[in-house]
Amino acid sequence: MFKAFLIKYGEIGIKGKNRHLFEDALVRQIRFALEKIEGSFYVHKEQGRIYVDIDGFYDFEETVAALQRVFGIVGICPVMKVEDKGKEELGNDVIEFLSNVYDIREQTFKVDTRRAKKTYPLDSMEMNAYLGGRILDAFPGLSVDVHRPEIMVHVEIREKIYIYSKIIPGPGGMPVGTNGKAMLLLSGGIDSPVAGYMISKRGVKLDATYFHAPPYTSERAKQKVIDLAKIVARYSGPINLHVVNFTDIQLYIYDKCPHDELTIIMRRYMMKIAEHFAKETKSLALVTGESIGQVASQTMQSLAATNEVCTIPVFRPLIGFDKQEIVDISEKIGTYETSILPFEDCCTIFVAKHPVTKPNINVIKYSERNLEEKIDEMMQTAIETTETILVE
Ligand code: ATP
Ligand code: MG
Repeated sequence: MFKAFLIKYGEIGIKGKNRHLFEDALVRQIRFALEKIEGSFYVHKEQGRIYVDIDGFYDFEETVAALQRVFGIVGICPVMKVEDKGKEELGNDVIEFLSNVYDIREQTFKVDTRRAKKTYPLDSMEMNAYLGGRILDAFPGLSVDVHRPEIMVHVEIREKIYIYSKIIPGPGGMPVGTNGKAMLLLSGGIDSPVAGYMISKRGVKLDATYFHAPPYTSERAKQKVIDLAKIVARYSGPINLHVVNFTDIQLYIYDKCPHDELTIIMRRYMMKIAEHFAKETKSLALVTGESIGQVASQTMQSLAATNEVCTIPVFRPLIGFDKQEIVDISEKIGTYETSILPFEDCCTIFVAKHPVTKPNINVIKYSERNLEEKIDEMMQTAIETTETILVE
């Protein structure tokens, strides 16, 4: 019965020129999301509104689910579209619509008519009164409340007439592409895919970097990261995933530096390499899944030591979250099941039994002097041999 959707989006802070950019990006992202599912969808912008009109067969649930992954959408209203055959017929249509959509008992309602087609013989006030009267006659349990109605009946008179009422919540946020691009350090864990989702929700396009250490980490661990990137891409749009072979650097650090500092030093080289790709591909920031105190490498001192090598901003959207809160989001966005698959990521193999929890930057830098001989060349090799995979 629904042949269109009216898309509601937040309007705060999107005045003037930004409004167009926001709407155009939203239209583009909706098209992108609907391209992947069966059906012929026509997404268009009209008088400050976005509509998805549908021709022929489509799957309602699947379409709503796809729209619920488009950041910037606040609400999705399923629309019944009818021909304009005069007000009596329209009254019948509205009554049919209400009895299909609601289980009507004792409720309050209000009709809100919008006359986009100015040649229509009755104005919106007259239509509200007429349709309100028809609804009162048809449903004895209903009464009018113009201030806080339980049921809002929207009628838009266009070339065809659009009737809608319920609003299905969207994900909120801002359309991807309205806020530049960032480089996500994506591992196979629970946290980093969630971090990517959070940043993307604010309209930021994503690329990603993954460090793997064959043969210490398996092909399946790499595949798991690709799978996670694929799930994140359902929200963020296509991701260029840089897969860096980190084995030699890791072994070199293992060989030359105190083992309790290994994770911190490794992290610092990960940041440097990720930053290299960020700059090369015009990302304006790095994104990690770190949260204060979660593990030894995420104490305030460790975060400071990791951060110290970066020259662009590092965003850590999960910084104040408890693990359970992160797990809840990963379940909601669909990454959890993949994240908990048991393949090693490269850090777990080289972790020390008692890593430093309060690294001193000067001490770390002193240890890194042991790497001076070969590290630049090794970083260069790692960068040159990086494989870039387009994940969509
Ligand atoms: P996650 O669940 O995201 O793996 P974690 O709790 O396991 O996080 P760490 O292993 O300490 O935490 O990693 C902290 C952050 O560093 C990750 O969220 C991620 O952004 C980045 N990171 C860690 N390992 C890798 C890797 N192999 N490749 C890319 N980024 C990584
Ligand atoms: Mg991890």
